[in-house]
Amino acid sequence: MLPNEAALDREDDAADALVAELRAEVKGAGLWAPHVPPDAGGTGTGFLDYAYLNEQIGRTVWGQLVFGCQAPDAGNAEILHLFGSDEQKERWLFPLVAGDIRSFFSMTEPEVPGSDPTTLRTRAVRDGGDYVIDGHKWFSSGAEGAAFGIVMAVTDPDAEPHLRASQIIVPADTPGVEVVRAIPTMGHRGRNWSTHCEVLYTNVRVPRTNLLGDEGAGFRIAQKRLGPGRIHHVMRWLGQMQRAFELMCTYSLEREAFGEPLAHKQTVQNWIADSYAEIQACRLTTLDAAHKIDAGDEARVEISAIKFSAARVLQDVIDRAIQVHGARGLTDETPLARMAMQARAGRIYDGPDEVHRQVVARRILKAFASGDGWHFS
Ligand SMILES: Cc1cc2nc3c(=O)[nH]c(=O)nc-3n(C[C@H](O)[C@H](O)[C@H](O)COP(=O)(O)OP(=O)(O)OC[C@H]3O[C@@H](n4cnc5c(N)ncnc54)[C@H](O)[C@@H]3O)c2cc1C
Repeated sequence: MLPNEAALDREDDAADALVAELRAEVKGAGLWAPHVPPDAGGTGTGFLDYAYLNEQIGRTVWGQLVFGCQAPDAGNAEILHLFGSDEQKERWLFPLVAGDIRSFFSMTEPEVPGSDPTTLRTRAVRDGGDYVIDGHKWFSSGAEGAAFGIVMAVTDPDAEPHLRASQIIVPADTPGVEVVRAIPTMGHRGRNWSTHCEVLYTNVRVPRTNLLGDEGAGFRIAQKRLGPGRIHHVMRWLGQMQRAFELMCTYSLEREAFGEPLAHKQTVQNWIADSYAEIQACRLTTLDAAHKIDAGDEARVEISAIKFSAARVLQDVIDRAIQVHGARGLTDETPLARMAMQARAGRIYDGPDEVHRQVVARRILKAFASGDGWHFS
C-alpha cells in the first residue's frame, strides 16, 4: 500500500480504480473486513488480532479503506450485526461489509454540543407505519456518495435524557435527504469516503421497520458503536506513530547540522527517547484494552484513557518528526504534513479529550467512593 500512497492521496478517478484493485488483492489474501466475524461477511477473529492488524494497516490512512474496515462503515456494520433485524442485515449489512455500498453515521448537529448528545434536536415522529424525520446534522463523515445513513433522532422528548433518542436507517435517496456540502476541514474537502458533510433532513419518511434495535435505545447502541470505534482509531494511530517515529530516526541520522548528524544532538535524542516511551505505553495500554474486550469487559475506563492519551502522543510524535525534518517536514515530500492534519482531528472526533478525561476520572472516583478503589491489572 505505501508505494501507492501518493496516487491514493490524489483522490481522483484513478485513485478509486487503484482502491478497487488493492481491495481485490486483500480479498484474495483472506484479510477483507477484519472488524466483523464471518457470519457478518468479514474475516474477524477477535479484538486482539484486529489490534495487531490495524497497527500495520494504519501506517497509511488508506489502509482501512483498502481492507474494508473504514470508519464509519466499520462501526455501522458492527451495530447492524448486533442490533439489526434479519431484513436489515440482508439489505444493508451484507452489501456494506462486502464493500458494495458505503454508509454514514449522522449524530452531530451544528447547533448543539456534540459532546453532550442528550441535547440533540433532530426529531423522528411516528406517523402510521412510518417515522418522519426533520433535522440538521453536520460532520456526517462519508455521506457524499453513501447508500444509507444511520441517523440519531429524538423519538420521545419527554423520556429521561438517555432514553430520548433512537437510531434509524435512512436510505440516502429518500426524498428530503439533502447532502448540503462537504465541509472543508483544515483545507481538505475530501471526496466521497473522506468527506465530512452537512446533511439536512426535511420531512424524511421511512418505514418504522428501519428502526435499529428498540425505540429509545439510541444511546445504548451508540455506546456499543463508539466504544470499539474509539479503540479502532487508536489501533490505527499506533501505525501512524510508528511511521512518524521511523521517519524521525532515519532523517536524524542522515541530516547534518553544525558538523554532526542531528541524531547527535541531545534535544533530538530526547525527542526520540520520549517518543519511544510514549508509543510503547500507548501500544501496551491498547493491547490491554483489546484483551479485556475479548474477555467480555466493556473496558470503558481503558478505552477513554487510551483515546485521549494516544491522540496526544500521536500529535506530539508527528510534530517532533516534522521539526526534525525542518522545512521539508511541511512539504508533501514526506507524509508527515498530511498525517499531522489528520492527527489533529483525533483529539475531537468520537469525543473530545476533555470528555474522555472526565469519564476516566468519574469512574475511578466512583470506585473509590464505593470503597472498592481502583485496581490496576
Ligand atoms: C474529522 C471528524 C469526523 C467526524 N465524523 C463524525 C461522524 O461521522 N458522525 C457524527 O455524528 N459526528 C462526527 N464528528 C463530530 C464529532 O463527534 C464532534 O465534533 C464531537 O463529538 C465534539 O462535538 P462538537 O464539535 O459539537 O464540540 P462541543 O461539544 O461543542 O465541544 C467543544 C469543546 O468544548 C470542550 N468541552 C466539551 N465538553 C467538555 C467537558 N465536559 N469538559 C471540558 N471541556 C469540554 C472541548 O474542548 C470541546 O472540544 C466528526 C468530527 C470530526 C472532527
